[in-house]
Amino acid sequence: MTEVTTDDSHVFSLIDNKRDDLVELTQDLIRIPTLNPPGDCYLEICEYLEKRLSKSGFETELIRAKDSPGDSDKYPRWNIVARKEGQKSGECVHFNSHTDVVEVGKGWTKDPFGAEIEGDLIYGRGTCDMKGGLAASIIAAEAFIEAYPDFAGSIEISGTADEETGGYGGVAYLAEKGYFSPSRVQHVIIPEPLNKDRICLGHRGVWWAEIETKGRIAHGAMPFLGDCAVRHMGAVLNKIEDELMPALYDRKTSMPVVPEGARHSTLNINSLHGGQAEPEEGFTGFLSSCVPDSARLVIDRRYLIEEEEEDVREEIIDLLERVKRERETFEYDIKELWKVTPTMADKNAPVVQAVHQAIGSVLKCEPSYVVSPGTYDQKHIDRIGKLKDCIAYGPGILDLAHQPDEYISIKDMLDSAKVMAQTVKTLLYPDHLNE
Ligand SMILES: [Zn+2]
Repeated sequence: MTEVTTDDSHVFSLIDNKRDDLVELTQDLIRIPTLNPPGDCYLEICEYLEKRLSKSGFETELIRAKDSPGDSDKYPRWNIVARKEGQKSGECVHFNSHTDVVEVGKGWTKDPFGAEIEGDLIYGRGTCDMKGGLAASIIAAEAFIEAYPDFAGSIEISGTADEETGGYGGVAYLAEKGYFSPSRVQHVIIPEPLNKDRICLGHRGVWWAEIETKGRIAHGAMPFLGDCAVRHMGAVLNKIEDELMPALYDRKTSMPVVPEGARHSTLNINSLHGGQAEPEEGFTGFLSSCVPDSARLVIDRRYLIEEEEEDVREEIIDLLERVKRERETFEYDIKELWKVTPTMADKNAPVVQAVHQAIGSVLKCEPSYVVSPGTYDQKHIDRIGKLKDCIAYGPGILDLAHQPDEYISIKDMLDSAKVMAQTVKTLLYPDHLNE
């Protein structure tokens, strides 16, 4: 752990002096209701950030993810990338935040877009996930530039669309266009709300599929003349329950996933449908008497870094083939719906080391490493951008994300802004190591 030098305390007091600015910035961001779906106000928030960051000396670029899923003239997917060059050549540290927020939902006692302050807390949809993190990273970058104008390399800040719906109109699009290629960016921090003293190294993998079992329609009074697709699906569910579930539970990862339950492989039965669709108004008891000829099951399999996607798929197909051997007329189809490879930064990676050291010197505690049970935009940076030196680190309590009365602590934002500024200093102003 390094001692805090006089220099460090200078940038820290700059950040403390920016408290009101940080609060106002967070409030302004909350008051732009970037709800996704449908993907509202993206241009508005990008223009706000453009104004703010160009004032601080950043070159800004607004990029529309034209024709990405969800992009339309009514709801265009706008993103912003801002870059500030240092005075010498060097590496680039990039802060990436998503600008979208999830629906408001029920149970609020505060105005979800009012950004009300109570004591140390700011309330509103997106305070924690993740406009508080975005604001903290902006303050951190501005304070760093002010304190060390002669830094080497460059700092980038991006505000991207659609993370809550997969990130295809945001980080995935930018990665496809080369914005996260290792020749341009070397270190990425995503200020998602993982708690200010934790470093999130990555996330588990995802494999979604739809399984359809097939039957033959017949009169419900003579089911023996047909073949019931729902009974076939029942056999599939039995195998999942009796054989697959225990096998998944037996697998445990060395990834530090939180909560602990997610250190095992998991499978969620997302939905199940067989037979005739119920009428919109609800079940009335008057469906026609038929044997269902199709049943569909959607599964959401989350897998570990120790598993291969190929094996995850094969395991399901094997199970279906076993059912087939036991049931004469069993026929099925399987369709992959969505997949994400697990990703985990190395603990010795430069950005991990730098944040680790910064948490130690700012918060005087030993940081913990975590891995997220679900995915976030790191997947695109890793898989499309081929950039491995990427983590999530930011203020906010993860459990509050997507909840009613979501809030962020101003103190936590200030603390994590200091950690971020110190991290940038380690990566872009290495001379201090010799002081
Ligand atoms: Zn988020």
